[in-house]
Amino acid sequence: MDKSSLIYVAGHRGLVGSAILRRLQSAGFENLLTPSRTEVDLTDQYAVEGFFDCERPEYVFLAAAKVGGILANSTYPADFILQNLQVETNVFDSARRAGVKKLLFLGSSCIYPKLALQPLKEEYLLTGPLEPTNEPYAVAKIAGIVMAQSFRRQYGLDAISIMPTNLYGPGDNFDLETSHVLPALIRKFHEAKLAGEWRVTVWGTGTPRREFLHVDDLADAAVFLMERYSSEKIVNVGVGEDVSIGELAALIADVVGYEGEIVYDPSKPDGTPRKLLDITRLARLGWEPKIGLREGIEQTYRWYVETGGMRGDD
Ligand code: GDP
Repeated sequence: MDKSSLIYVAGHRGLVGSAILRRLQSAGFENLLTPSRTEVDLTDQYAVEGFFDCERPEYVFLAAAKVGGILANSTYPADFILQNLQVETNVFDSARRAGVKKLLFLGSSCIYPKLALQPLKEEYLLTGPLEPTNEPYAVAKIAGIVMAQSFRRQYGLDAISIMPTNLYGPGDNFDLETSHVLPALIRKFHEAKLAGEWRVTVWGTGTPRREFLHVDDLADAAVFLMERYSSEKIVNVGVGEDVSIGELAALIADVVGYEGEIVYDPSKPDGTPRKLLDITRLARLGWEPKIGLREGIEQTYRWYVETGGMRGDD
């Protein structure tokens, strides 16, 4: 990519897309396409084809997706599989027809088998059953990976796929019903602190382990890979370390300044026991994360307090 390349960030109002946009803008890329959802509904085949025909982007970051936490995934499984498949088929096919030079697809660490060895290596894809709580989402993301590989093989589309671990940062979803654990706990502890409540409930047992990557690091890796990587092999993007949900809760409570009790609700699902990515492939390419978990949570908490967690829809 050069600074005048025409770049389309699909999903630019979401957590990932907005971070990629910030990263591109700060690096001086000036030709960025960011149509609103009403201008281009990515689940609408004709709208997407029309957009690509008309605008002819050279580079595409496919960060648009229907996303959500463990509860949203189990409440709306049909929406998760359907909308993600629609966006993927529409964008891949339109990109290929419009002669896009390169497309970067955002997958997810939940594509790996539930009981795969940890840390999760890229080659574990499609070697075992998935975690049931987000299987529809994971199947759609796996379809996107296979689509990238297939369009590369059949049409020569330079499509690459990257698998971020659990992400967080400014622009995250803080709705307690649909969010992921990290923003949910920031909000729960913050509201308890303000209300003077002495008890905050954390879902599940607190023992599952998760890895958390700041979305600005992910955006940096995405631009790095767009510029330097071309292969059908998927690439994990993570930090290489995980924490238990209990440890995460204690850390967030400390950052927020909540001093009350933390209780667990084991009637809520734990989900997959552990999700830690092996990041050797990315490290060999020369990239590493820069934002530590505490620092990232502090920065995200400041953003939440300043904005009230308001963001565009994703
Ligand atoms: P997952 O990584 O796909 O399982 O998605 P989540 O981020 O939604 O959940 C991660 C873990 O955090 C699960 O074990 C949840 O039960 C646990 N968790 C604890 N409290 C919360 C909460 O308030 N919201 C969410 N979404 N998860 C929570």
